[in-house]
Amino acid sequence: MSVQREQIESIVAEVLKTLSATAPLTSPAIETGDWGVFEQLEQAVAAATAAYQQINTIALREKVVGIMRQAARDNARRLAEMAVEETGMGRIEDKVKKNLLVADRTPGPDFLSPSAISGDTGLTLVENAPWGVIASVTPSTNPAATVINNAISMISGGNSVVFAPHPAAKWVTQEAIRILNRAIHAGTGINNLLVCVREPSIEVAQRLFTQEGINLLVVTGGEAVVEAARKTTNKRLMAAGAGNPPVVVDETADISRAAESIYTGASFDNNIVCADEKEIIVVEQVADEFKRALSACGAVEISPEQADTIARKVLIDYPGPACRPNPKWVGRDAAEIAAAGGFSVPESCRLLFVDVGRDVDNVFARLEQMMPLLPVLRADTFDEALEWALILERGLLHTAGLHSRNIDHMDAMAKKINSSLFVKNGPHLAGLGAGGEGWTSMTISTPTGEGVTNARTFVRLRRCTLVGSFRIV
Ligand code: NAD
Repeated sequence: MSVQREQIESIVAEVLKTLSATAPLTSPAIETGDWGVFEQLEQAVAAATAAYQQINTIALREKVVGIMRQAARDNARRLAEMAVEETGMGRIEDKVKKNLLVADRTPGPDFLSPSAISGDTGLTLVENAPWGVIASVTPSTNPAATVINNAISMISGGNSVVFAPHPAAKWVTQEAIRILNRAIHAGTGINNLLVCVREPSIEVAQRLFTQEGINLLVVTGGEAVVEAARKTTNKRLMAAGAGNPPVVVDETADISRAAESIYTGASFDNNIVCADEKEIIVVEQVADEFKRALSACGAVEISPEQADTIARKVLIDYPGPACRPNPKWVGRDAAEIAAAGGFSVPESCRLLFVDVGRDVDNVFARLEQMMPLLPVLRADTFDEALEWALILERGLLHTAGLHSRNIDHMDAMAKKINSSLFVKNGPHLAGLGAGGEGWTSMTISTPTGEGVTNARTFVRLRRCTLVGSFRIV
């Protein structure tokens, strides 16, 4: 049998490819590595593949999750400080709260339960199987909290995770990965359940969309990345996209409670949480009373002229249809935003607001600007307020809120708004388990519909049927 030169070269290339794919699993550099941070994407995926195969018992997953919770609690402040220092966004104290929230209230493996169907023809078992290696693209706005939250949810489902950090938050994202990996290794000997590359970029994130060895792609970010993933990925996609959550205050609301809720929610982490209140729509009859109550909480009302001056500084291409937030100003303190407008507010002020009347097209209402500056719109009636809320939510299917004691209003808005989260009479954060019932997540899957993600989101359902036996009745 004669073998052509090309065939030999092709066989050699194949063997080398196989060797390089398996080498990282045994290479000492990768066993210890830099606690999950790799030079090459292929190395990271290979290490994560080896890692998830090691968490093959529920007891081990529970142990790993317990270890991660503790490590996240112990490092909540350090990671919060790093995030603010690196990204310039948000508030340290709020980020500490966010890190603790995800450490404590992200559900673990106990959230998964198999189910059984028993009948005359036998028994069928439905089990929660891992996807294997999950790719998770993470935002700059909640860098550490998203790693902690995704790690707990995805490992609970028996998976490992390749993260694609936002380049502007790479140090803190990588440090969160290292901290969790070190703690897991110390407690179980397993490394690399969480991995990423040392130099994250949009290009590396895009390679993950089609990277071999990954079956599920989870994207947490704005509209552009969700669109890019939708267009190119050949994997199952779960997308946690942008929002522009409106909150309506009607004439029946407990006004001081509504003002306190909105002040707390909209100013949390300087408004960079995707679910935070982004525009307030008040029914005219109570608008002045509401504004006084909001000011009493510590918010400062600014004039439309001052808002315009701020917009020229903090938005790109303003005025104009393509205007958008300047990332340098996203998540800055209210005092810094005020200074951009040429005036000062007390350091204690966490929120600015501007009365824009009936201007639904106002730039601060239309844009998801993620700054602690909210427009207050005045609608004639609740029906009009709801109509505006629908316009401003833009079908993003994210979050909306209502302050009301009218059950018909609650019912009407719940049905029409069609958002993944709908929060009544509390800060929107309550919908993420902070002051409301339910678990938390930093990945609220909106356009693809998985909602507030958890361990159950990140498993494949597998069915096993036995015909004619194993029933006990
Ligand atoms: P971003 O969209 O700029 O970046 C998110 C991630 O996507 C980053 O890792 C970035 O590197 C990557 N990315 C961006 N464009 C890409 C492209 N074209 N191809 C491949 N990768 C790309 O978002 P951000 O500023 O970091 O975060 C804020 C945005 O994320 C807001 O719109 C917010 O509403 C949204 N968000 C949503 C949720 C949710 O759970 N639904 C949670 C947090 C943030």
